[in-house]
Amino acid sequence: LTTADLIEEHRICVCVRKRPLNKKELSMKDLDVITVPSKDVVMVHEPKQKVDLTRYLENQRFRFDYAFDDSTTNEMVYRFTARPLVETIFERGMATCFAYGQTGSGKTHTMGGDFSGKNQDCAKGVYALAARDVFLMLKKPNYKKLDLQVYATFFEIYSGKVFDLLNRKSKLRVLEDGKQQVHVVGLQEKDVKCTEEVLKLIEVGNSCRTSGQTSANAHSSRSHAVFQIILRRQGKMHGKFSLIDLAGNERGADTSNADRQTRLEGAEINKSLLALKECIRALGRNKPHTQFRDSKLTLILRDSFIGQNSRTCMIATISPGMTSCENTLNTLRYANRVKEL
Ligand code: ADP
Ligand code: MG
Repeated sequence: LTTADLIEEHRICVCVRKRPLNKKELSMKDLDVITVPSKDVVMVHEPKQKVDLTRYLENQRFRFDYAFDDSTTNEMVYRFTARPLVETIFERGMATCFAYGQTGSGKTHTMGGDFSGKNQDCAKGVYALAARDVFLMLKKPNYKKLDLQVYATFFEIYSGKVFDLLNRKSKLRVLEDGKQQVHVVGLQEKDVKCTEEVLKLIEVGNSCRTSGQTSANAHSSRSHAVFQIILRRQGKMHGKFSLIDLAGNERGADTSNADRQTRLEGAEINKSLLALKECIRALGRNKPHTQFRDSKLTLILRDSFIGQNSRTCMIATISPGMTSCENTLNTLRYANRVKEL
């Protein structure tokens, strides 16, 4: 496969989503420094100062497969990102969709959805929307005759350790067998018959994720959440869709005045996000030296990267505020690198 073939096949789709300014940013009079001038371009207008103190805007332009402005709904984002990958798992492939970005930029809103009730019209996120379409697809004659069963898993990777969100956060071991297969030992695979059952699991998992935490965001910003929809035929894996709400990518502050545990967690997150970038870049190309073992996340997802019929999309979420400018630029640069083959 050449680079052109890979792009042609749309194995990798990278897009960016801007969220609206939130109440806190509005009350702080934070400025919106992001524009989306066309459907695939995002611009950052960073306020700067010259030595003589005159102010100017430094404009930076980034191009992606899609750029979604702050009026875009979850349904629309889904339609252009994860939706095309639902077919992949019915065709015996592996699909992966990541949300990447700084804490507070909208990863969980995009992936898990918002069940708080304050955002009723877009409560469903990519997890739920993908599940809905899996059940719709099952009804198509071509797929109906395959007699596929649907299962769901939901787990969290925190500081290199794996916890089952559908089984009271029990700690799980990750093992590689002699055939280079990676197993998350004891991970609960719930069999699901309809979208409503999936929604319940998402809720169970989400509440499990934040239980016992003083601040929901403090914890979730430091862990990767992985929600998987697995298709089986006579017990054998047919296809797998992994939907991932990554840990927040802002880590700069951790290195200086933080305790040892926090620094270690930060280092682990940095390592996994770097490994992830390399693994996505190696997607479907026969690159035996790719460092899947560099992190638990990439190790567990290895089968999704090496398959001949593997496809990935990344949704880079960004905050609009001037105060987030540095993190936003880091997110956009990372997303750019993922896209370059
Ligand atoms: P993250 O998971 O990246 O830390 P969240 O998804 O928790 O961020 O989003 C932070 C806050 O911003 C939440 O209150 C969420 O409801 C809100 N939010 C995020 N994205 C959007 C959006 N596109 N539209 C409206 N509100 C959003
Ligand atoms: Mg979150």
